[in-house]
Amino acid sequence: MSGRVDLVARVRRFVERHCIPLESKAHVHDPAALDAALAQLRPVARELGLYLPQMPVEQGGLGLSWVERAAVFEEAGRSYLGPAALNCAAPDQPNMISLLRQGTPEQQRRYLRPLAEGRMRSCFAMTEPAPGAGSDPSMLCTTARREGGGWVIDGHKWFITGAVGAAFCIVLAQTGEGPTQFIVDMDNPGLECVRAIRAIDPYAVGGHGELRFTACRVAADAVLGEVGRGFVYAQQRLEPARLSHCLRLMGRARRALEAAQAYVRERSSFGDRLADLQQIQAMVADCHIDLHASRLMSLDCARRMDEGLAVKTESAMTKVFVSEALNRIADRAAQMCGALGMSEDDSPVALILRELRPFRIYDGASELHRATLGRRFLSSKT
Ligand SMILES: Cc1cc2nc3c(=O)[nH]c(=O)nc-3n(C[C@H](O)[C@H](O)[C@H](O)COP(=O)(O)OP(=O)(O)OC[C@H]3O[C@@H](n4cnc5c(N)ncnc54)[C@H](O)[C@@H]3O)c2cc1C
Repeated sequence: MSGRVDLVARVRRFVERHCIPLESKAHVHDPAALDAALAQLRPVARELGLYLPQMPVEQGGLGLSWVERAAVFEEAGRSYLGPAALNCAAPDQPNMISLLRQGTPEQQRRYLRPLAEGRMRSCFAMTEPAPGAGSDPSMLCTTARREGGGWVIDGHKWFITGAVGAAFCIVLAQTGEGPTQFIVDMDNPGLECVRAIRAIDPYAVGGHGELRFTACRVAADAVLGEVGRGFVYAQQRLEPARLSHCLRLMGRARRALEAAQAYVRERSSFGDRLADLQQIQAMVADCHIDLHASRLMSLDCARRMDEGLAVKTESAMTKVFVSEALNRIADRAAQMCGALGMSEDDSPVALILRELRPFRIYDGASELHRATLGRRFLSSKT
């Protein structure tokens, strides 16, 4: 128990002493360099007893509840290397949840165990370029047809985080019996990683891949879960995935705010310290208000998940609020830092701003969540 009490402080020390000193511009859009950094950090995280905070003890994890892991994820998130060093970063973290829930013993042996041990990485492929599935998953164009006791998958996916250097992919494809999840090894000759997309956020482990499935043959046991239940599983995956992103990215926003606070304490303008100017004080206050509200909404969602309550509505509200609040924080932090906040070389703030921007789009764009929430509230009697 005492280990848990000071766990957050120990994660903070790990991030300060090991992750932040290893941060480098050399990692920008370079999945191989990021993997090399993780290979250095993960043994240290294991040695310090910080590895896999979210997984059950029987799977080699620390077995933390959602509420317990909230502050751990936030502390880890202060560095872009932190969550992956603890092996609690997306997409491996939600993929582990899917494999735990829906994987057969053989799939767990082949994919979950090495993933948990950090011997392989993975990705999750749902999104397709137009006219395929994006905000609307029912537009799924990737198909899988039964052939010779197995399946043949054809389709085109993009923005698949973690794809570069991943060992396997969980892909969503339409079958005659409904949408279905398949596990496909990345070295399958029918699967090509066409390119690594240079997205606005440069520090994603495994980058963001564009994938083509061309007559991609997989065995019958490649189906993850039941045939036809792919959308149900994807929905079940998204709720915890969204909350985890909120928790980790709060750490990134906090880091930007810390840098801005340090700057305004030292920098002067027209004879005043920036920190003594009311407009600066208001920006700092607004950042802390956004952070506090984000934390409380996330913790409420975490508590509900620990209690086994539904979070369909709460996780959507939390995702919209937190993704927008964190962007406001990073934007104000950059503003307070002046030119320094625009430099990718001299401060972490500019890159944090870029890292946080896509969060308003992935895991459901704000507009989509607002549309769904609005309809849900208006159609209920309360
Ligand atoms: C950095 C990054 C990482 C990602 N990682 C992954 C991944 O690992 N795996 C994966 O499968 N996908 C991933 N995605 C894709 C992501 O899930 C999609 O971008 C998202 O679902 C939106 O789909 P879309 O891009 O096709 O946008 P579209 O569906 O084309 O929507 C465009 C815009 O239209 C608006 N809009 C859409 N629908 C509605 C509506 N009903 N009401 C009002 N407005 C609406 C929103 O503003 C939306 O941003 C990633 C995306 C990014 C940017």
